[in-house]
Amino acid sequence: MRRVVIVGYGMAGARLADELRRRDHDISITIIGSEPHAAYNRVLLSTVVAGTMTPESTRLHDEKWAAEHNIDLRLGYEVAEIDRASRTVTIESTRGASVLSESTEGPRVSVQYDALVLATGSTPWVPPAEGLVEDGRLAEGVVAFRTLDDCAEIEAKAHKGAPVVVLGGGLLGIEAARGLAGRGCLVTVVHPVGHLMERQLDPGAGGVLARTLGQLGIEFKLNSLAAKYLPGDGLILDDGTHVPAELVVVSAGVRAETSLAVKAGLEVDRGIVVDDALRTSDPRIHAIGDCAQHPGTVSGLVQPAWDQAAVLADRLTGANPAARYLGTSVVTRLKARDVDLAALGDVHTDVDCPDSEVLCFQEPSRGRYAKLVLRDDRVAGAIVLGAPDAAATITQFYDRGIPAPTDRLALLLGRALPAEAASPADLPSSAVICRCNTVSKGQIVSAWRSGAETLPQLAESTRATTGCGGCKDAVCGLLDWLGASQPASA
Ligand SMILES: Cc1cc2nc3c(=O)[nH]c(=O)nc-3n(C[C@H](O)[C@H](O)[C@H](O)COP(=O)(O)OP(=O)(O)OC[C@H]3O[C@@H](n4cnc5c(N)ncnc54)[C@H](O)[C@@H]3O)c2cc1C
Repeated sequence: MRRVVIVGYGMAGARLADELRRRDHDISITIIGSEPHAAYNRVLLSTVVAGTMTPESTRLHDEKWAAEHNIDLRLGYEVAEIDRASRTVTIESTRGASVLSESTEGPRVSVQYDALVLATGSTPWVPPAEGLVEDGRLAEGVVAFRTLDDCAEIEAKAHKGAPVVVLGGGLLGIEAARGLAGRGCLVTVVHPVGHLMERQLDPGAGGVLARTLGQLGIEFKLNSLAAKYLPGDGLILDDGTHVPAELVVVSAGVRAETSLAVKAGLEVDRGIVVDDALRTSDPRIHAIGDCAQHPGTVSGLVQPAWDQAAVLADRLTGANPAARYLGTSVVTRLKARDVDLAALGDVHTDVDCPDSEVLCFQEPSRGRYAKLVLRDDRVAGAIVLGAPDAAATITQFYDRGIPAPTDRLALLLGRALPAEAASPADLPSSAVICRCNTVSKGQIVSAWRSGAETLPQLAESTRATTGCGGCKDAVCGLLDWLGASQPASA
């Protein structure tokens, strides 16, 4: 029997185990996860900080999952070393470990593998400001935003009226800032670039977003770097400005967690380099998720991680030994109450670019901004802020590669539904309905067939709608259609 050992019980590792077991009841699966918790949906941590979800409701697996699926799960353990010659990994207990597995032999043991999968994710990057780190750890009052434990620490300190600084105005920084402002904290976002979310937004959209968030009570220090942290007092910025803070939340970007791979002599660039078979430079070792670097992938997002898990499960179980991962087109949605923002594909093309058609609409006073990039008559990229209908429509055109209607303005304003998508019946089974949890129409249909016939039951069984909630109308539409037509196939 093949022994698959998965390093990392995060979103990629947990999904891979599910995908492997779904295809093969006998393959031996060991998971080693350094966090002390059962796997959880990291994407939903912003909603935990905002107080709209409990930590328990983010769980991907319950505590019986490993035993029920015959999986050797070692929680609170980390892989310290890979011996490629003997095909073993050495695992060590992490501090405060709680072990759910029956088969844990001791504090430091070796585990044999036939196939090893690195799913070690990424780690927060901490800007090099004086005082943020002390003795190799974040200083008192400074918290990263990556894990459930980080959320608990943030929650404990984020009382009403507390001045809080969020370092980083990217997607996660904005989500943290909005959640903390919703709790009544006095939030300032310090961002080194001239506009927010520069990876996903152009300066125009970044400006409208800052204005909208400003109306919700959040302040911004753009083009600013943190220079010095004064515990209990706040931050000094590079221009000498003092920003008061009882709490500093670090959300300044992530780096792929590659230390284990580097130590094992695998090829590493920004991430662990993998080919279309998700193999590293050692063909018995694979990498998926945030830690992996595949040429066609934007890293740091969950959808590529879950697509990679499905391809790798096909290969490792032999269900489809020829399966290849060829990249993922991703749609980014901001999960922040009262702000509806979606960005997809190539958003940085200028209006005067000769080989693209670029349309732009702005209405800053009402928090609206829409930019559409068309190439070869298809949506190549878009930013849609404050216009959820347009976001939903444009996403459908993008996902499905449908030619854009000749009435471009109708598309930009969300009034041009693709004809074949007028009914949920016409959506392909693979169409992703809930992007936060990557739930497809097919999964919703099969959950409904298994008895989840109401919205709460569907949310419980598939987790659709439990993220930003932006897919609620679409899921209700599917429920209505299923209830009315009871389709034999979908
Ligand atoms: C607050 C927040 C909001 C986000 N929102 C979105 C979003 O809206 N959309 C989106 O697409 N993405 C979002 N992301 C990113 C998304 O969560 C990641 O892309 C996803 O978690 C990647 O999965 P992963 O398994 O590769 O890494 P992770 O989920 O980070 O899991 C890696 C796991 O490996 C463990 N590990 C590391 N080294 C070892 C070792 N040596 N031994 C054992 N275990 C080890 C780590 O402790 C961790 O548990 C968000 C992330 C955060 C933090």
